[in-house]
Amino acid sequence: MKIRLAASLACLLAALPLRPADRPLTVAATIFPAADIARRVAGGGVRVILVLPPGASPHTFELTPGKVRDLQPARLIFKIGGVDDWIDGVAESLPRTLIVPLHAGIVRMAANGHGHGDGHHHQDGSDPHYWLSAANGAAMAATIAEALAKADPARAAGYRANGRAVAAEFTALHAELKGMLAGLGEKRMIVLHDGWRYFAAAYGLEIAAVFQASPGREPTPRDLQELYRAARRIHARVLFSEPQLPAASVEPVLRDLGLRLVVLDPIGGAEPGDSYAGLLRRDVRAVAAALAR
Ligand SMILES: [Zn+2]
Repeated sequence: MKIRLAASLACLLAALPLRPADRPLTVAATIFPAADIARRVAGGGVRVILVLPPGASPHTFELTPGKVRDLQPARLIFKIGGVDDWIDGVAESLPRTLIVPLHAGIVRMAANGHGHGDGHHHQDGSDPHYWLSAANGAAMAATIAEALAKADPARAAGYRANGRAVAAEFTALHAELKGMLAGLGEKRMIVLHDGWRYFAAAYGLEIAAVFQASPGREPTPRDLQELYRAARRIHARVLFSEPQLPAASVEPVLRDLGLRLVVLDPIGGAEPGDSYAGLLRRDVRAVAAALAR
């Protein structure tokens, strides 16, 4: 009886034309961390499209016509800014879609002077990798909640409640991550790509040297000289690379300096069930293990 009632109700609902307010909201986010936070804040009933495929680097990604077509139902697209400005290319094709940068309420660091800015990576002169701090993740959750509330006022209260809960969770995560690195004797890191300055500042670490100031841009002899000097000064044993960036050109440096490569993931999402919080925990654990003496 119950089943028959449910079935006839489903038939009835299917026959009714959906009013716009009943249609499930679709939004998108450029990179996995933003998409995962959006999914959490949106709760069920909102479709979240991830634009950057897992494993790809936002620095080298380009939008295809197919991707733009997939984004057509999206009312909002959440972006970081700087690393994913390629998303601005959809504005003309999708005039009703609002692109929402997530840096509101976040104090952004100036791009490293070392970066010789090629205009691709650090467009407005600020370092874009702010999501790699859970405290900033909390601010991103608040921005996402407000944008969802405006786009879908009927469910505004739910989005705002979720946003507060997720932000509180990330604030607690931030303290937890700090605690995981508090006892570490060595805090200095040498990184392949200059994407970890918010992470370092958030968790008491220090970026001693960078191999590539801008992704894909090979270091000059002078850059290498600085890197070698820093690595020897701090008796470095590790160079931190990223799964989305090729590390082949770093091989001679590893050999010369006797460094081991340790992978830190700034994006995540390659494994099913991955999350923004899981990503940060993995990275902090990897740093703790790599720098422990
Ligand atoms: Zn980067």
